[in-house]
Amino acid sequence: MTDIVDAQTRSAMMSGIRGKDTKPEILVRRFLHRSGFRFRLHHKDLPGRPDIVLPRYRTVVEVRGCFWHRHENCPFAYMPKSNRAFWQAKLEGNRARDLRNLQKLRELGWKTIEVWECELADDQILESLPALIRTDRDLPASRLPT
Ligand SMILES: [Zn+2]
Repeated sequence: MTDIVDAQTRSAMMSGIRGKDTKPEILVRRFLHRSGFRFRLHHKDLPGRPDIVLPRYRTVVEVRGCFWHRHENCPFAYMPKSNRAFWQAKLEGNRARDLRNLQKLRELGWKTIEVWECELADDQILESLPALIRTDRDLPASRLPT
């Protein structure tokens, strides 16, 4: 491993490898729970097993690692210099799969919110979540309360 990736890449990789229950996800979960939201985790029956599912608001929140999920214009979403073709295929594949799953969720009438790891450096994104979750703005007309 040592000669394949540099330290910065490896640390980004490690944070992605843990997958479930990564620290940024726990941060978001704790905040939502404290704010009174109730949710399910890694819902198996929904496309992409979304991290956080809030059935009452028909909303899913995905907490994304910037490196693995290719946060656009983000310094953490750099491309490793060695094995470039491998990484490019792998990482772009990850993102393509994310986008397909988000699209499927929206077609099923779910509102989708992506939270990026780097955004959690300050509390602003967390503080904006309750309003984003409660709004019906992005829901298809058929899902709006009558
Ligand atoms: Zn980022």
